[in-house]
Amino acid sequence: MAESSPQIPTGVPTAARVYDVMLGGKDNYAVDRTVAEASLAIMPELRDIALHNRAILHRVVRYLAAEEGITQFLDLGSGLPTVRNTHEVAQEVNPQAHVVYVDIDPIVLAHGRAILADNANTTVVTADIRRPAELLGRPEVRALIDFEQPVCVMLVGILHHLGDEENPGQIVQVLRDAMPSGSFFFITNFTRLGDAPESVALEKQLLEQLGTGRVRTPAELATFFDGFEILPPGLVPLPLWRPDEPVLDASTVDVRFMTGGVGRKP
Ligand code: SAM
Repeated sequence: MAESSPQIPTGVPTAARVYDVMLGGKDNYAVDRTVAEASLAIMPELRDIALHNRAILHRVVRYLAAEEGITQFLDLGSGLPTVRNTHEVAQEVNPQAHVVYVDIDPIVLAHGRAILADNANTTVVTADIRRPAELLGRPEVRALIDFEQPVCVMLVGILHHLGDEENPGQIVQVLRDAMPSGSFFFITNFTRLGDAPESVALEKQLLEQLGTGRVRTPAELATFFDGFEILPPGLVPLPLWRPDEPVLDASTVDVRFMTGGVGRKP
């Protein structure tokens, strides 16, 4: 990245920019690349995991827009604009679809403004999902999302940044309660590979690199969908959610290290 702005601290790595490194983006600084390289040294599969995460995002948004008629998407912890963002996939199906991106990192707003200048149906908001009621009440959110109509709320690759002390269960409950019947919740999260000491050590090292957060079991992930009907094929390793191409080997770490799925509010 050639330029910086006074609001963007360039000496401290951020999750949005480290993830951008993983995806092969250019919106990152030396500090972010150092963290990304250290994480990749622990787990080289992280790059493919990030790509699987983007791929399920595309499949889910396309499915919900095309098959379920969803016209509003609230993408929480959206990250930096990258290849094929939520609004591009949704608006390809329905040009009138509304998309609100929310991220704690102000760099996302800076980049989003430039990209979305001529898109009246999409906006970026800087907010913290740890204060969900506040973010749901933001005028920029309310301007594009009508909570009387079905909405897809997305928590893609973000909840594992929150430790248990930040009470993610309560955060998702506030979000679920705000969603009307017929809404969808879409979550992906780093997944515990097993109790073998190597797996546990790997998770620990990885989370030390990322700063904070927690790897969760599929059963723990299921609690985030309390009261919702999980759509087939369930909460599964990301490449297995309604794949476009058959997955030949589902046993690899890159396939298994993240779980995701979609729930519908009855
Ligand atoms: N959702 C995108 C995806 O899956 O491709 C990006 C995921 S990226 C790994 C996680 C994002 O969550 C980062 O951009 C980070 O800034 C954001 N984030 C982390 N904690 C957050 C919080 N408390 N509130 C809002 N955003 C947060």
